[in-house]
Amino acid sequence: MKNRGVLAVISGFSGAGKGTLMKALLERYPNYALSVSCTTRSPREGEVNGREYYFVSGEEFEEMIAADQLIEYACYCGRYYGTPRSYVERQMEEGKDVLLEIEIQGALQIKKKFPDTVLIFILPPDAAELKRRLTGRGTETEEVIAARLSRAAEESEEAWKYDYLLVNDDLEECTEALHHLIESQHYRAGEQKERMRQIQEDLRAYRKN
Ligand code: 5GP
Repeated sequence: MKNRGVLAVISGFSGAGKGTLMKALLERYPNYALSVSCTTRSPREGEVNGREYYFVSGEEFEEMIAADQLIEYACYCGRYYGTPRSYVERQMEEGKDVLLEIEIQGALQIKKKFPDTVLIFILPPDAAELKRRLTGRGTETEEVIAARLSRAAEESEEAWKYDYLLVNDDLEECTEALHHLIESQHYRAGEQKERMRQIQEDLRAYRKN
């Protein structure tokens, strides 16, 4: 009996270190598949189309919405971001645990559509560290950093809706904690429904004999 993969949403303030965490998780454990989103924002230096994102035009994005090709989408700091449906469904069917690194509005849409999804929010140790990380990246203008910090303040109001809040202080520790959290989802009662039904049926048959 092959178990379906778990759907895990990882969110966190911009600069919380989600990208590094995802990378560490994928390098260490073979059973994860990271979904690549579509976005209307421009590529940053070093980003490759199809690797970090599929960079698309506003028109292409709208076409995907109309064709129901996105399982969720949201507008973040004036740009659209969305998760392509086919990859996620295929990987889960193959038993892979699928990671969606997306923001809050999208996360809540996913939870509504797929209630078994585990929502994990990554926190920095404190606000000053978040600001330091955002500035230290050197890839964003001051204006963008300010917009992202202001967005973080808004997001902090909704982070309570997540199933788990995980502090990313030490990368090693946080990677392990994240892995165990996702792994543990395979042991929820709901995941074993089919097996339980089979056992129940067999036990009933024994009783008849
Ligand atoms: P960035 O521009 O820094 O790559 O991403 C900005 C925000 O968009 C991050 O919080 C990131 O997690 C989120 N994001 C990336 N892809 C998606 C997506 O497919 N859907 C949603 N809702 N958010 C996304």
